[in-house]
Amino acid sequence: MTQKKGPSEIWEETLDKIKSCISSDKFNTWFKRTKGIAFDGEVLTIEATRGKFHADYLSANFKELISSNLQYKFYIVGSENIELTKEPVNEVIMNQAKTAKTGNKVVANQLGTIFNKRYTFDNFIVGKSNEFACAAAKAVSQNLAMVHNPLVIYGGTGLGKTHLMQAIGNDIISQQPYKKVVYLPTETLVSDFVYNMQKGRMDEVKKRYRSIEVLLLDDVQFLAGKERSEMEFFHTFNALYQSDKQIVLTCDRIPQETNLQERLISRLANGLMVDIKPPDFETRMAILLNKANWLNLKLPYAVAAFLAESIATNIRDLEGCLSKIHAYSYVKKTNITIELVQEILQDMLKVSKTHFKIDDIIVTACDYFHIPVEALKSPSRKQDIAHTRKIIMYLATQYSGLKLQEIAKTLNRADHTTIIHGRDFVKNSLQTDREIERDVEEIIIRLKRVK
Ligand code: ADP
Ligand code: MG
Repeated sequence: MTQKKGPSEIWEETLDKIKSCISSDKFNTWFKRTKGIAFDGEVLTIEATRGKFHADYLSANFKELISSNLQYKFYIVGSENIELTKEPVNEVIMNQAKTAKTGNKVVANQLGTIFNKRYTFDNFIVGKSNEFACAAAKAVSQNLAMVHNPLVIYGGTGLGKTHLMQAIGNDIISQQPYKKVVYLPTETLVSDFVYNMQKGRMDEVKKRYRSIEVLLLDDVQFLAGKERSEMEFFHTFNALYQSDKQIVLTCDRIPQETNLQERLISRLANGLMVDIKPPDFETRMAILLNKANWLNLKLPYAVAAFLAESIATNIRDLEGCLSKIHAYSYVKKTNITIELVQEILQDMLKVSKTHFKIDDIIVTACDYFHIPVEALKSPSRKQDIAHTRKIIMYLATQYSGLKLQEIAKTLNRADHTTIIHGRDFVKNSLQTDREIERDVEEIIIRLKRVK
């Protein structure tokens, strides 16, 4: 048998390959002060010794470069992120992970999964979009297997599901360090099952899983279509559930809309299912300002507002932008302005901001509400016409990229304050009025078809 390589050796070899792919400037700036610090046979943990921003920068910019040169999955952690943990850190029941140590800085919980210390309840900004999910997660971590079992947190990508799930893990471990709290991405569970099925070692695996006290399974939708793994998981689920062990799952949509087996879905429905929605503007602002503060970054309010307006759907993208700005301002030592941000984030902003031509907006909305375009541009204040006009004002301010005056001119309105009123009326109604929300959504869907 060949000698197993350690984390630093694996990383050194990878660095050699990376060196030949990028300029020596880049390499010296970003890769020189990195270390391989833990390896569990599957995942390599890389420490970015210049801290959190360094780790973020590497993740945001070099993820593909690293994965194409490294045959393992990897985490990048910033050194100041890593906290002291008590030893011994429970038994290792999954993987063969060793507790990694650099100085005495690194954490591994009992599973060898590194709980991300940034993903705590304290760091989770609560708004309308996620308050219920957050409350349920807290309730679960304080009352294991008592209140909601299983708890299913579902919602789109980048909205905080993994964060909440890891916050549950962090919270439990901080109070009960010897609990067997297991966080698993579903892909890891599947590869564990598949590997051990091939080796004929499922009995051991079953035993191992059934000794778990809190199971946190992330992105359960990946089980769909993997029949044997899904069956094994179903039995594991039942065994844990029947012995009052807490189970928390995340899913990228409501489980009923996945292709998971009916019997598993009906088990999930026995507990509580909560969704996380895209955050509203205020929540996006709070997340940005909080994160900027954390990064020690001077982010002017106007720039934060600009970002929060531009990137509406995904917190991961929002954070990614901020990391990029942070790295840039760190290197260039310049003030952060909207113009600078527009320049740095050109690509990212393009992707996340949908654009519609104002004429398309007008035609599509008029068609939807059965209003002639001439009537819309006329002075008429008839209710249905005025209503259509307001929705168009809103959509134009959000999606056409035109200035208020330009929109006013196109719609034959005297001045831009009318546009502001129309926009704000719809913006506010969207929070409370399901009908307007549906109308706006439907018009956007149609506009996307026009594009
Ligand atoms: P998901 O698992 O739903 O795809 P994540 O949990 O990975 O999303 O979240 C993406 C990023 O956004 C993470 O860095 C996370 O910390 C951050 N994030 C999400 N929601 C919040 C929130 N409410 N407050 C602070 N950060 C958040
Ligand atoms: Mg996730």
